[in-house]
Amino acid sequence: MKLTQHLSEATDTIVSLEILPPTKGKSIESIYNHLDPLMEFKPAFINVTYHRAEQVFRKRTDGNFERVEIRKRPGTVGICAALMNKYKVEAIPHLICGGFSKEETENALIDLDFLGIKNVLALRGDAAANEKFFNPHPNGHRYAEDLVKQIVTLNKGHYMEEDIIDGAKTDFCIGVAGYPEKHFEAPNMDTDIYYLKRKIDLGADYVTTQLFYNNEHYYSYINKCREHGIHVPILPGLKPLTNKKQLTIIPRTFNVEVPVELCNEMLKAKTDADCEQVGTEWLLHQCRDLLKNKVPILHFYTLGKPSVIYNVLKQLF
Ligand code: FAD
Repeated sequence: MKLTQHLSEATDTIVSLEILPPTKGKSIESIYNHLDPLMEFKPAFINVTYHRAEQVFRKRTDGNFERVEIRKRPGTVGICAALMNKYKVEAIPHLICGGFSKEETENALIDLDFLGIKNVLALRGDAAANEKFFNPHPNGHRYAEDLVKQIVTLNKGHYMEEDIIDGAKTDFCIGVAGYPEKHFEAPNMDTDIYYLKRKIDLGADYVTTQLFYNNEHYYSYINKCREHGIHVPILPGLKPLTNKKQLTIIPRTFNVEVPVELCNEMLKAKTDADCEQVGTEWLLHQCRDLLKNKVPILHFYTLGKPSVIYNVLKQLF
C-alpha cells in the first residue's frame, strides 16, 4: 500500500523503521535478528537505505596499485523483497542519484515495480568518499528533484527509449528528504525549503526528515514548510543517541544540534548502560511530545541500537 494511503486510513500514529543493508559478507540473518523483536510493534513500513559504491586502491600482483569500485553495502532491493516476503510489511527502498545513470535508475525502478514495491524515497546521496563535492554520474541526476521527475515520468508510462509506446505505468508513491536544521550545503533555511517545494511540486508525495533531538526544530520546520505552501505529510526521523562518541560524530555527520541538556546528561553518564539509559529517556520524551502533537508516524532510524528503540516502543504502545 502507498504510504500516503496508509496515512489517510490510519486512525492513530503509526510506526516505521529504517535499516541499513548489512556489510558485504554478512548474511540476511543479521537483518532478521535486528528486526524480529521490533516486529512486535507492527511497523507499517521498513525503509532500506542505499549506499553508493566507493573507490579504493588495491595492490596488484606487480606491486602497483589500481583504483577499483566496491559497494560495501549492496542488497537494498533484495532485502526489500525478503522483508515483504517474511514479515508481510511494506518495504521502502531508498534510491540515490549518486553513481547512477538515468538508465540504471530506470531499470532499478522496473525491478521495484515488478516486485510490487509501491513506495520509494528519492534522494541525491552524498559526495563519494574520495570527493569533496557531490558530482553526478555523467548520464545521471544532479539533484533529487531530477530523480523525482524521472519517477513521475515512469508513473505516466514514459520510458527513456522513445520507441516504447503505451508503456506500462508504474505507480510509485514518492518520498523525499527534508532537513529541520537545514541541509548542510543550503545557504539558508528558506532556500532549502524553496528546493524542497520544487520536489513536491514535481510530484513527491511526502517528506521524511533528517534526525533531530530537539522537537522544536521539527515543529518550526513544519510551520515554515506550510508557510511556503508545502502541505504533504512531513514524517519525523528519530534516532537515539547512545554513547559519548556520538556527541561529536552525529552533529558532524548529520548537521544537527545536540541540545545542552542531553549533552550534559550524556557526559555525566558513567557506564555504557548509563549512556543507553540517557538516550532511551531522551527518545521517549521526544516521542511522547510528538504523540501529544499528533504526528502521523514515528519513523525510527534503528541503525546499531534496536534494543533502545524496542524499550522506547514498549513504553509507548
Ligand atoms: P537534494 O534535494 O538534491 O538537495 C541537496 C542540496 O541541494 C540541498 O542543499 C538543497 O537545498 C540543494 N538543492 C536542491 N535542488 C536544487 C536545485 N535545483 N538547484 C540548486 N540547489 C538545489 N543518503 C544515501 O546515500 N543513502 C540513503 O539511503 C539515504 N537516506 C536518507 C534518508 C533520509 C530521510 C535523509 C534525510 C537523508 C538520507 N540520505 C541518504 C542522505 C542524503 O542523500 C544527503 O543528505 C544528501 O546530501 C542530500 O540529499 P537530498 O535528497 O536531500 O538532495
